[in-house]
Amino acid sequence: MISEKLQKAINEQITAEMWSANLYLAMSFYLEKEGFNGFAHWLKKQYSEEMEHACAMADYLIKRGGTAKVDKVDVVPNGWGSPLEVFEHVYEHECHVSELINTLVDVASAEKDKATQDFLWGFVREQVEEEATAQGIVDKLKKAGEAGIFFIDSQLGQR
Ligand code: MG
Repeated sequence: MISEKLQKAINEQITAEMWSANLYLAMSFYLEKEGFNGFAHWLKKQYSEEMEHACAMADYLIKRGGTAKVDKVDVVPNGWGSPLEVFEHVYEHECHVSELINTLVDVASAEKDKATQDFLWGFVREQVEEEATAQGIVDKLKKAGEAGIFFIDSQLGQR
């Protein structure tokens, strides 16, 4: 059985994952309107991935005898500038999520809950990939000229 303290912390992370999902959906809608269908497609996949993270955390909580909650999700920003600006925001947000996951590992460690620490390592590893992927897209966009941006857009459309 999972501790109350850890249950609360994981439920807060579920809300954070849903907020991340909404952020990426808002970015997807924004870039679709701007005519970047590839970037929009990539971000919509990212939205689905964040919802999967929320559901995986809920499944885990329930498996451990806890209760998973769908809480209020705060409003997300909308309206950005260039695709570069959007992906810089994605990168910064993923760094923030990494910090949230690391803090969650600290809570599990303080609660001496080995199973939850083991469960969370998967997300620690996932964040390494998320940060690297977002940084990679930012780097490409910085190097690309006007035409290059449309090439990257079509590449990301194949995700
Ligand atoms: Mg996530």
